[in-house]
Formats: sequence, structure tokens, C-alpha cells
Amino acid sequence: MSVLSGMLYCADCGQKMYLCRCSTVKQAEYFNCSSYRKKKKRTCTSHQITVHAVTEMIKNDLQYTVRFASENKEQFVSDLMRRSDAKSKRELKASLKEIEESESRIKTLDKIIQSLYEDKVAGKLSEERYMKMSENYETEQRLLTDKVSVLKADMEKSKNKTEEIIKFVSLVDKYSDFKELTPEILRAFIDKVLIYEKQKVDGHYRHTIEIMYNFVGAVEIPDFD
Ligand SMILES: [Zn+2]
Repeated sequence: MSVLSGMLYCADCGQKMYLCRCSTVKQAEYFNCSSYRKKKKRTCTSHQITVHAVTEMIKNDLQYTVRFASENKEQFVSDLMRRSDAKSKRELKASLKEIEESESRIKTLDKIIQSLYEDKVAGKLSEERYMKMSENYETEQRLLTDKVSVLKADMEKSKNKTEEIIKFVSLVDKYSDFKELTPEILRAFIDKVLIYEKQKVDGHYRHTIEIMYNFVGAVEIPDFD
């Protein structure tokens, strides 16, 4: 499947996996790491996996994820939110309150600093006393300003993360009972797939892949029936 070609990456060196049509038998077509292909400057191991095996693995993984996400939507979304630092409504409200309070204090400090200056000009406050007091208030103001910009940036980031998660969930809704791994479904869901080098477990080779989904990246699905 040609759409897979641009999607598979070696998990160890990060380079693309190339399709090898070295065999006349279609079932034997495989991908391997492009760094391994450079025979003179070979910098990686083969990471060989057949088209058939990787297609089946992606299909199973995707179906498992989609099924879990549509049957346990609340848990799925809250797990993603937690892992992506997206904030809940309650947390957003608390941040907003903190921003408002800080901004109001910043304005008050402006007035205080102004009136200190007037007191100094009027001779009610010594130069030394004025310097010390205004310095303290200005430090407080600077710390508050920094805090507000951090809070605002966090809120913006969190809003974007939440939007991404919503986009992913709407994909799940759209394709909740897909049967075939069509190019459309692959492109809709998958950003890339990492291919790990096979491991020998109990005398059998075992392949591991990791799907990086569009919008949400890697997704961990708990065991479920
Ligand atoms: Zn590699």
C-alpha cells in the first residue's frame, strides 16, 4: 500500500522505512530502514517488517484504539487531557480568576507608586524612603506581570490541546466501526508509525510498532474487553 510508504519511520534512527519489492511474491514485500539500505554507510539495523504484518498491526492497533475511545469516551478524553496538560473547566476558571486578581493588583500598584512619587515631590516622604518603598512595589508588580503572562500562555496552550483532542474524538465518531484500512482512514488518523527492531521472545520474533496519531500523538489504551 503506497500510502504506508510515507508513514513508516525507523524507531531507532528516525529515518524513513523504504518499501522493498525484492521478491516476486506479493506477500513477501517488506519495508526496511533507509539507513540500513545505504550499504556503504550503513548506520542502522534492518528493522525489516513485511507489508502484510505491518498493515495487520496498524489495523489491529487502530481498531483497538477506536473501539476503546468510542466505548469509553469519557475516560479516553480525560486520560488524553491529563497527559497533554489540557486543563479542565474548573482549572481554567481558577486560572482566569488568578489573572483577574493579579491584573487588578497591578493597577492598584500603579496608583500606589504614583502617590508615593507625589508624596516625595510634596516633601512628605524622604528620597531614601521613597526609593525603598517604590522598589518593593515595583518588584511585586514585575512578578505579577510575569505570572499573568505565564498563566495566559498556559491557557492558550491548553485551549489548543483541547481543540486537538476534540478533533481526534470526532474522527473516532466518524470511523467508529471501520472494517478496512483504507488510505482515507490511514491519512485521517495517522501522523506516522514507528517501527522497532524485532525482538526474539521465546524463540519467536516479535515486532513492535508505535502509532503516532494525528492531533494527539501516541495514545495509551488500557486493557479492556
Ligand atoms: Zn534505522
